[in-house]
Amino acid sequence: MRHLLVFLVGLLFIRNIATAQAPVQYSSAEIYHSLQKLNFLGSALYVAAHPDDENTRLISYLSNEIKARTAYLSLTRGDGGQNLIGPELRELLGVLRTQELLAARRVDGGEQLFSRANDFGFSKHPDETLEIWNKEEVLGDMVWAIRKFKPDVIINRFDHRSPGTTHGHHTASAMLSFEAFDLTNDPNFYPNQLKNTEVWQPKRLFFNTSWWFYGSQEKFEKADKTNLLHLDIGAYYPVLGKSNNEIAALSRSQHLCQGFGTLTNRGSEGDFIELLKGDLPKNNDVFDGIDTSWSRIEGGAAIGDILYAVESNFNFKNPAAHISDLVKAYSLLQNVKDEHWKGVKSKELRDLIIQVSGLYMEATANATSSNPGSTVEIGMEIVNRSESNFLLKNIRIQPTNTTLKPMEKLGFNDKKTYETSLILPQNTAYTSPYWLKEKGSLGMYRVDDPLLIGLPETPAALHVQFEMDINGTSVTFEKPVKFRYAQPDKGEIFEPFDILPKATASINDKVIIFADGNTKEIPLTVTAHENNVSGQLNLNASSGWEIKTKEVDFKILKKGDSQTVFFEVTPPNDENEGILTPSLRINGETISKELVTIDYDHIPKQSILLPSDVKVVRLNIHKSGQHIGYIVGAGDKVPESLKQIGYIVHTITPSMISAGSLDKYDAVVVGIRAYNVVNELNFKQKHLFDYVENGGNLIVQYNTAGRWSKQFDNISPYPLSISRDRVTDENSEVTILEKNHPVINSPNKISSSDFDGWVQERGLYFPNEWSKEFTPILSMNDKGETSKKGSLLIAPYGKGNYIYTGLSFFRELPAGVPGAYKLFANLISLGKNAPNHQKVKG
Ligand SMILES: [Zn+2]
Repeated sequence: MRHLLVFLVGLLFIRNIATAQAPVQYSSAEIYHSLQKLNFLGSALYVAAHPDDENTRLISYLSNEIKARTAYLSLTRGDGGQNLIGPELRELLGVLRTQELLAARRVDGGEQLFSRANDFGFSKHPDETLEIWNKEEVLGDMVWAIRKFKPDVIINRFDHRSPGTTHGHHTASAMLSFEAFDLTNDPNFYPNQLKNTEVWQPKRLFFNTSWWFYGSQEKFEKADKTNLLHLDIGAYYPVLGKSNNEIAALSRSQHLCQGFGTLTNRGSEGDFIELLKGDLPKNNDVFDGIDTSWSRIEGGAAIGDILYAVESNFNFKNPAAHISDLVKAYSLLQNVKDEHWKGVKSKELRDLIIQVSGLYMEATANATSSNPGSTVEIGMEIVNRSESNFLLKNIRIQPTNTTLKPMEKLGFNDKKTYETSLILPQNTAYTSPYWLKEKGSLGMYRVDDPLLIGLPETPAALHVQFEMDINGTSVTFEKPVKFRYAQPDKGEIFEPFDILPKATASINDKVIIFADGNTKEIPLTVTAHENNVSGQLNLNASSGWEIKTKEVDFKILKKGDSQTVFFEVTPPNDENEGILTPSLRINGETISKELVTIDYDHIPKQSILLPSDVKVVRLNIHKSGQHIGYIVGAGDKVPESLKQIGYIVHTITPSMISAGSLDKYDAVVVGIRAYNVVNELNFKQKHLFDYVENGGNLIVQYNTAGRWSKQFDNISPYPLSISRDRVTDENSEVTILEKNHPVINSPNKISSSDFDGWVQERGLYFPNEWSKEFTPILSMNDKGETSKKGSLLIAPYGKGNYIYTGLSFFRELPAGVPGAYKLFANLISLGKNAPNHQKVKG
């Protein structure tokens, strides 16, 4: 399912398939566009809380219409969201969404920044958000982002004045930005940052408002707009052959795991920004009164003289005609004192020199990964496709400083290739997202190196510097080392080159449930990331848990191969939670991390090293029924969890559903958001209801209502209306409304303690209206809200039961929450007669 979805959506954006890592090459028109951007010295920073919060129309407008250097600061990486395209949740979802933001910025021309704040889940009020985040640290990260990026204008996505009306993270992002605006220029705040950057005062702060914030279009039309700028975000760019809103839609459509693939749009369209701080600009000009010309910097005027002339006389037939002027400007730029603009514009100029000369440079390793201490072969390809004199002086591979001295003239279209090998230093860091290397808190990532804070991703392990002499000026270009290969059904693919341990070990299930006291054989898989790896494989456990043999030797001959060893684990007699820790010992090194890869077509492949611990839970669960039919929705791990406690789970696709086909199942469970993502299901409702009528047990997990979804007229046999009600505090009190209902009593007795230890939230998208046939079983609410009774609704229908639940079983079961297992077992058991009842030994 996942691959089909990705494939279908991928087809719409052919340009991004498998090219996420490929070197980008530019046409004359695109080069001209870059040149226009080179000649604009102004910056804008857009601020919000999550990947997908950003208004891509405005980011694209700032970047492509105004031609400002534009960045989006997303305070979090969106770990707390849901995933429509695959199984990644929490930290792994944060990695995926980080890459989707980078993919969006590749489309709209912006840059991407972050803070250390963790998207810990939905929060209704900014006060709660700022308590769970470390407010001082997140504010510091925002100050750091502003001091480094040095924006002239900052634009908040959200209104800092309306706490409680949207996600608490949203309002918090605006409140912090409002506060940071007055701190960044004061050296007394966050003085340690000034070792690595300078103070900075942005000129203006805006809020990106819209009629929505006014309640209605009508109210907005009547509102006083003195402080508002009106921007036409439907501007058309003849040079690019696209309009701003078309680019914005393509950018937004990179947020695939959020289901934000969207139609492109054209035509004039308004967007509004409201001035919060600084002076009101004239003429609707965001940068009014700010010098955005080359004269802005000392020594810039002479550079401007050259570059404005290149822009006005641009040679579309032969952009290479401008090489000598660009190199002259580059040379002058190296003498200016303004380090900030020198850095920013030097990089843009180097990119332009590459673009106009058709200079192609590539550095690839001979394998997808290697290990510290191992030898890597690096191949370089370079070809100059201009008539200009390029002398390739040095090639240096960093961080080892491995140097080649070709001293070779790069003639027109004369491809040169070089090869070398190097030994990766023993202290080379393993590839993994820098923010996941150490254990953080619920609200914050821990990042020990201050220079990494805010970076979207970990810099490549190896990069190659090509030092050239062009018309007497030395210019050094840099390329990360990648791995390149061809895949017959996809074409050329570039992947990051990874540094990995020699081997990693993992247990597939992150939570293992022992439904009784029996010993289980736990499979532990070792995967080699090098040829000829041998060592010892260990498994350790918390006290009370017994492991028969804790250590075995392993030997794997071929890189990429795996070996699975079974360890016998016996749980304690009583209910208990513990940890199993697999580890490897190879040549004296202990490796206790496992390797997780995330691989989709719209992002570069990601390798993540995470602690290989798994949670073990000893339960006393009673069950009735054995066979469960599972209809997969947007993807969840509920089937694996049910298998763990002894159910036999059969995956059902809509095409398998026909009259009577479900009758063999003790219960049919519908995966999360199935009605949102599996259209065909809507046509199978009759069979599902017939199944219930004949005595079946249908358990439907949450589906979303609202702006993305169509209305479901027939999701249940009786009227039921799904709302956006949710209870986000996982510790909120739960009241059992129907103490005598079988679902609370049989086969497991449910009490309030079964709602202890839940994770992230209680549930979401609860129905808020239902017909009288439904019995609400539970009541719960977040602080300061009215009680919500729609989390678990049961209606008898014919001889069976229809159950709708927005409780977050998809989070609680994979997390090994005992009470959630007992309640789910009761849902499955509902209406089962005693003969089927299998009492599991305690
Ligand atoms: Zn958001």
